Amino acid sequence: MDIFKVFTIEAAHRLPNVPAGHKCARLHGHSFRIEIHVSGEPGPETGWVMDFAELKAAFRPLYEQLDHHYLNEIEGLENPTSERLATWIWQRLRPALPELSEVVVHETCTSGCRYRGA
Ligand SMILES: [Zn+2]
Repeated sequence: MDIFKVFTIEAAHRLPNVPAGHKCARLHGHSFRIEIHVSGEPGPETGWVMDFAELKAAFRPLYEQLDHHYLNEIEGLENPTSERLATWIWQRLRPALPELSEVVVHETCTSGCRYRGA
């Protein structure tokens, strides 16, 4: 079973490594929609894989680092593509949340990426 929680992060970024003249080289912002997925068997008594509050608490420190920040200034996010952001979140969240199974980053309503640790 897979459960997930959705977070919205408002943040600015620019992509330093795109070809000259690419629009993403300019400073701009997104309402990133981030899904954190956790996999496991629902407990026989609890009936849930995990308390959603526990999931929220595990993501909180990362949320604080990302929300309303300029992503390029965060260590490890000097080139903050959705792919790099998903990996960054995975690497920092997995130790606190071993059941983590997937990180999805929606950069816009129609663009995003899905990372499962490989
Ligand atoms: Zn962008």
